[in-house]
Amino acid sequence: MKRSWIYPVDTDKYDVINSFKDLKEVDWEILNKMECGDIVYIYLGNDNKKIMIKTKVKNINVTKSDGIDDSAYVLESETENLSENTVYTRLKLLDLFSEEEANKLSYNLLLKNGLNGSIRSGLILNNNPELKSYIEDIEKNIIKQRIDNLNNGQIFSNEELMSVFKCANASGMRRAHKTNTLCIISDHTKSLYEDRWIEDVFHYTGMGQVGNQDLNYGQNITLSESNTNGVEVHLFEVFKKNEYIYEGKVELVDTPYQEEQLDAENNLRTVWVFPLKQVNRCEEIRIPKDVLDNKEKQREKMAKKLNNEQLRKKTENIKGKPGTRTTTTKVYERNADVAEYAKRVAKGICQLCEQPAPFKNKAGEDYLETHHIVWLSEGGEDTIYNTVALCPNCHKKMHVLKLKEDVEFLKEKIL
Ligand SMILES: [Zn+2]
Ligand SMILES: [Zn+2]
Repeated sequence: MKRSWIYPVDTDKYDVINSFKDLKEVDWEILNKMECGDIVYIYLGNDNKKIMIKTKVKNINVTKSDGIDDSAYVLESETENLSENTVYTRLKLLDLFSEEEANKLSYNLLLKNGLNGSIRSGLILNNNPELKSYIEDIEKNIIKQRIDNLNNGQIFSNEELMSVFKCANASGMRRAHKTNTLCIISDHTKSLYEDRWIEDVFHYTGMGQVGNQDLNYGQNITLSESNTNGVEVHLFEVFKKNEYIYEGKVELVDTPYQEEQLDAENNLRTVWVFPLKQVNRCEEIRIPKDVLDNKEKQREKMAKKLNNEQLRKKTENIKGKPGTRTTTTKVYERNADVAEYAKRVAKGICQLCEQPAPFKNKAGEDYLETHHIVWLSEGGEDTIYNTVALCPNCHKKMHVLKLKEDVEFLKEKIL
């Protein structure tokens, strides 16, 4: 049976918080007979007088030569003459409580909730069910509070996400029993799933990378029943590797539906799509426009892989409403005088193909577009020495092909 302990540390002698923060695992000479898998709550004595660290016994037979060097955290050494045969217990960090969180695990509150006397050596909690359940309840509260306090738009690393939700490290749908949550991750850096926002509804593609998806498979069933099974669903979106943007708690707002998408082996298959809405609607997260442009390019590549029949099958049932995204873009403020000057110099003739403008605008002027030979986004200047007037065809050609000879031709022209 898994046991739990409270173990005191003299913080005048050892910087236990930083030691666990930095090393994650620490070896101690513990006289109590602990076993692998036992939970050990570290009680900080002296000024702190509260439980601030939760650990787990990883190994009970660590010899000095295999030990982790934590000498940097020893403030006042007391055990100078430990023999080479001393056996250490290795504790692995599970959680570090903040000062505020740990206030509920203070000595006084522990006393009120079952603790008898002081904590001088390792104390086994299994003999004290009142204290044990008090500590475990507080811990559950702390974890829940952390999730409730998250802000939409907050960015997590994978490690942070795992630590807050107590979930696994991989997969797009991560069920954590400890926090009774399901984290669903829409990773836009991978092109497999066609997840999208349509107004305030996020259309999330379920689990299963190859072949038809099954609504009863993996966490698809958890998500499809999430309105009644009590599991909280939290949404994350990824646009950059290892940046998980929190989109808040979401709920299913409609029954899951099926559509056709390509699978990981480029075969068309049926997927399940879950329409989700944020529980607390908040301002849309803005993403850089180039991220979106890259995604679109990937999608275009994938569409090219389909044969005509597949393309027809995939598109015939698509509903007309497009997905939307709010993006951030850098906009250049172009000088109107420079543009007007360039057009006057051109006199209605495209400076690249040297043909007359293809049509007149509503004001009856020859229609030409101004173009920067060296693009502004590439450091070009907004001056009459870098601006030409082109017909729409040539303008597009400059942006799609950007041929060296055309660039040179235009440069010559405005000299
Ligand atoms: Zn032209
Ligand atoms: Zn241009």
